[in-house]
Amino acid sequence: MESKVTMDKIVNLCKSRGFIFPGSEIYGGFANTWDFGPVGVELKNNIKRAWWKRFVQEDPQTYGVDAAILMNPTVWQASGHVESFGDPKMDCKNCKTRHRADTLIENHSKGKISAEGMTNEEMEAYIEEHDVRCPVCGKRDFTPIRKFNPMFTTSRAMTGDASDVVYLRPETCQGEYVNFLNVQRSTRAKVPFAIAQIGKSFRNEITPGNFLFRTIEFEQMELQKFCKEESSMETYEDYKKRAITFVENLGLKNEHLRFHDHDKLAHYAKAACDIQYLFPMGWQELNGIHHRGTWDLTRHQEFSGKNMYYLDPITNEKYIPTVIEYSIGADRLTLALLCEAYDEEQLENGETRVVMHFHPAIAPYKVAVLPLQKNLGDKAKEIYNTLIKNFMCDYDEAGSIGKRYRRQDEIGTPFCITIDFDTLEDDTVTIRDRDTMKQERINVNQLVDVIEKRIKFN
Ligand code: ATP
Repeated sequence: MESKVTMDKIVNLCKSRGFIFPGSEIYGGFANTWDFGPVGVELKNNIKRAWWKRFVQEDPQTYGVDAAILMNPTVWQASGHVESFGDPKMDCKNCKTRHRADTLIENHSKGKISAEGMTNEEMEAYIEEHDVRCPVCGKRDFTPIRKFNPMFTTSRAMTGDASDVVYLRPETCQGEYVNFLNVQRSTRAKVPFAIAQIGKSFRNEITPGNFLFRTIEFEQMELQKFCKEESSMETYEDYKKRAITFVENLGLKNEHLRFHDHDKLAHYAKAACDIQYLFPMGWQELNGIHHRGTWDLTRHQEFSGKNMYYLDPITNEKYIPTVIEYSIGADRLTLALLCEAYDEEQLENGETRVVMHFHPAIAPYKVAVLPLQKNLGDKAKEIYNTLIKNFMCDYDEAGSIGKRYRRQDEIGTPFCITIDFDTLEDDTVTIRDRDTMKQERINVNQLVDVIEKRIKFN
């Protein structure tokens, strides 16, 4: 029986089972930061690996990079972030909390109204007309909307003046644009080709985070596809399909996913959409797919003075490629997959088991080795030591076997192997499936092959 997943249940399970802890917790925490624990780091790494496999390894037209987080500050002038990047913020004069005006409107209308296309004046008018109140103190006494630049700054401390300012990148994609020429020349790539990256971004987000959904430091998995203008809409549609197939293959149910076209497009864009996921707090953006025209490369050409034209070696055409961007947050996807996987099942004996039905490819541990009794430990350790050469494995000999199964179910381990006295006689073990709880007996030397086949992500 499926039971309703709430954010509280996910946060509690994540903490108690070692997925995710509040950041700097012993100092009272630090708002909108989270630390991945031993199980969580495996889950997120597996998600990143699955993304890289699908979009880089299996796509001969895509090349990976790992660009520096700290970039020449002129990059952020070229990108427009220094001047205009920012969310519409208003402060509550009564309780002194800061809010995003668009989020206030969207929450008040329970997601029915999108403030994306509204001007500041329209948002202020909406808030007044519909009596939208401060979610913290319940008063409606806001300052006018102001843009607040969410770029974190740090300093190189060279000259002691403003020229020392360095920004922590608020998005990873600039690392691809500034390396467009390097990648194209070093790989001899022909348009269309893409540059992909997984890396940290930083945004001084003010809005309450909803756990991993909105954090001030997060990882993006994204790629920029450089193509010809004529084929750009086809490429855009292609990435919409590939993006949704990827998250469905990882386990997100189709009925929990939908496309959402942007109401208002940037002046250079032909199209933009998000894929939204039905999180416990409602439909929210999971990833974005954006047509960016020639905007980014043109701006970098202007600010760097470097020629960003591509010369087609066959037709001799010279042009600045159009960019299609596909970007998804690794942490936000981790949260979606945690919510999707969570289940409370009523067992025949009346007990409830909490089980995380992760796709085996992303499950933190693939196997847990459980000796039925402590004096079977030597044999169990021998099997464990073979398996860890191939997979992340857990080993547990403490407590009843039932409790040990429950523990593995809660962290989503797809297979548990029990070692009993027959193992000593005939070298067979019991392998238990997390989802069906069915057990089968197999030979120890088949284990690696059997597990490998069952955990594959295609
Ligand atoms: P939002 O409207 O939710 O602020 P955005 O439209 O600004 O997101 P993009 O700049 O398009 O987001 O970033 C691409 C992806 O990066 C998002 O779809 C999301 O998965 C992730 N992302 C963006 N901001 C955050 C954040 N503060 N915390 C976690 N993930 C984020």
